Amino acid sequence: MDRRNFIKTTSAAATFTMANDLVSLPEYNSGQSQANTGETPWYRRVTRWGQTNITEKDPLHYDIGWWRRYWKETAVQGIIVNAGGIVAYYPSAIPLHMQAEYLEGRDLFGDICKAAHQDGLAVFARMDSNRAHEEFYKAHPDWFAIDSGGNPYKAGDLFITCINSPYYNEHIPSILTEIATLYKPEGFTDNSWSGLGRDSICYCGNCRKSFRDRTGLEIPMSADWDNRAYREWIRWNYNRRLEIWDANNRTTIKAGGRFCIWSGMNSGSLIWQSESFRDYREICRRAEIIMLDSQARSDAGGFQQNSDTGKLIHGVLGWDKLVPESMAMYQAGKPTFRMSSKPSAEARMWMLEGIAGGIQPWWHFVGASHEDRRFYKTPGPVFLWHKVNEDYLINRKPVATVGVVWSQLNADFYGRDEGELMVELPWRGITQALIRARIPYIPVHADDIDREAAGLKLLILPDLGVMTGNQTEAVRRFVKNGGGLIATGKSSLYNEWGDRRPDYGLQDLFGTHFIHTDNKSADSSFRKKASATYHTYLRLSPELRKNTDGPAGVNEPDVNGTRHPVFAGFDHTDIISFGGLLDQLKTDETAEVLMTFVPQFPIYPPETAWMREPKTTIPGLIINNVPGCGNIAFMPADLDRQLAKSNLPDHGNMITNLVRWASKENIPLIVECPGLLDCNIYTKPNNLIIHIVNLTSSGTWRQPVDEYIPVGPVRIKVRLPDEVKGMTLQLLVSRQTIPYTINQGWAEFTINSVTDHEVVVI
Ligand SMILES: [Zn+2]
Repeated sequence: MDRRNFIKTTSAAATFTMANDLVSLPEYNSGQSQANTGETPWYRRVTRWGQTNITEKDPLHYDIGWWRRYWKETAVQGIIVNAGGIVAYYPSAIPLHMQAEYLEGRDLFGDICKAAHQDGLAVFARMDSNRAHEEFYKAHPDWFAIDSGGNPYKAGDLFITCINSPYYNEHIPSILTEIATLYKPEGFTDNSWSGLGRDSICYCGNCRKSFRDRTGLEIPMSADWDNRAYREWIRWNYNRRLEIWDANNRTTIKAGGRFCIWSGMNSGSLIWQSESFRDYREICRRAEIIMLDSQARSDAGGFQQNSDTGKLIHGVLGWDKLVPESMAMYQAGKPTFRMSSKPSAEARMWMLEGIAGGIQPWWHFVGASHEDRRFYKTPGPVFLWHKVNEDYLINRKPVATVGVVWSQLNADFYGRDEGELMVELPWRGITQALIRARIPYIPVHADDIDREAAGLKLLILPDLGVMTGNQTEAVRRFVKNGGGLIATGKSSLYNEWGDRRPDYGLQDLFGTHFIHTDNKSADSSFRKKASATYHTYLRLSPELRKNTDGPAGVNEPDVNGTRHPVFAGFDHTDIISFGGLLDQLKTDETAEVLMTFVPQFPIYPPETAWMREPKTTIPGLIINNVPGCGNIAFMPADLDRQLAKSNLPDHGNMITNLVRWASKENIPLIVECPGLLDCNIYTKPNNLIIHIVNLTSSGTWRQPVDEYIPVGPVRIKVRLPDEVKGMTLQLLVSRQTIPYTINQGWAEFTINSVTDHEVVVI
């Protein structure tokens, strides 16, 4: 029996063991598993959601009849309805649970909930806890977060409640109980359940006492990642959020029955999860469903960020569970206009990329009536297509030979206050290089390497600075079993607290050793330097310059010879632009240095732009030959971060070449066609599913996209699983069956044209 299938019981108890340990998982009662009842709970069945995020003015004119028709038109099976928290949308008997300003006694939540239930829809009661009005603050000043000066934290006119106070232990549970008892919603979600973020330390009496009891320390006066108290404070905060998660579930299940779960809300950004003390892996181990609040793309991350997020969450949640995502139909992102339509091409592409990564669509409007009515037309086509084809879009397993490794510990203790720079950029560079090359990948949590290893041929550590001993051991096992490895930047150089080790944790695999310079100041300066772009280069070895290729020059080649396959396509250059800085390292005899660092020299004025030190022995890329192991590349040069920053094709192509070499060309998909395509493969018991999303339009300029550029013909070769015998090949978007040939276990076929996306079912 899969533990994930067990249902939490009211007797489940979360307990603290040690200050440094995460809160232990709630107990599960195998006697109450859904498998035993034969009943599929709503959170496994409802795959399309809708949300009209109610404003305080809406109760005056909320047109439930219109919205009921709209639910039907868009084929949603569940809705998210504002219930309580900061303000109540029903007549609440809980003291200080203030009614929405224009509610005027109406039971709006109750009316909508009833209508949805009559229409056979599931209802997620949406809470928004963590802030309150002044009246509440005056009644319970000790329930609110306090800054180091003794003043309450505020957001506008509202006061911010403290996560360690009776507001979370008593007030919110009493509201959850009241709503569950009165209205029987299927479950609860909460917009800002995790309280104050990392940038605001609370010094209220509750926090001070709790922290002292758990750790014997005082709450730190400032953020200092080298201070033990601050590090313990980070862990203590994570633990508290897990306690809240478990406690709220106990409350709602007790009041609303065993399927009445509470499922907070989580972000699509790992960095934001870290800044909010939400441990994604631990939350996913507890959650039956992840409610994802990730409404639009950033220019930097692109639409592909959404499929990446879906795969990352499913990797720790399980692919049998659902991850609906709030998708803004209004102009969300940069800039935000709550009341006007997002160009439908932009909104649609975000939805499609989510679906490609295993996310379920959830339309989201702010307010219940709008003067810009164009966006009501946006979700319908995607939702209706989803309804027809959902069998192929959920409950499937990804097929990929490349795993990109992540951990929240790394986001915290390597990322520190520069999570975007230190953690997100290398991730984005690697994943973007893979997408450019149409190489399917899955995100792999660093604690799950053993579990995922069987299907993978290559692990990539994108500047994964912080690694625990268990994690480096798992990588070592993978490589000793013949798996390939690419590690970049300062991977494995830091322990779980972010303290530098004497040498790389994986020094034996890298064949490379860190040379001690001085101390902490070197570490902090390298963080600062990572944000700048320097006029530096990498020299490829051996050099190939021939007289026929260009004029004789100042930097004469040392050697002419045959190049390593990782330099395919670079025949006419001996250097590539870099942008970062590198330090001297020591390499073993088994290691081959394929790229060396060229230090910076002036750009301006042009007369000064010549290499002062054209050749060094500082390694930028090392291949280590370890008998019995897979192919290993260690690239101290952070080409991943540079690609994310500067988008230079050389950086992407070099990463792709490394991936092909280190995986021994073991990539299950070949897609030939110009354009930027995000390609993902999944399996179900009788099917192979390929989802291709055409991102070419978004690649041409900044957001928003307002028209699509079709690409094609798209020639595809996909490796078939062994058991495939006879087959048909169906396209779910253009609704046709197409011919194919089979050649040595690979299916080959051509799709004439892809406008926004296509799903191939074999
Ligand atoms: Zn506090």
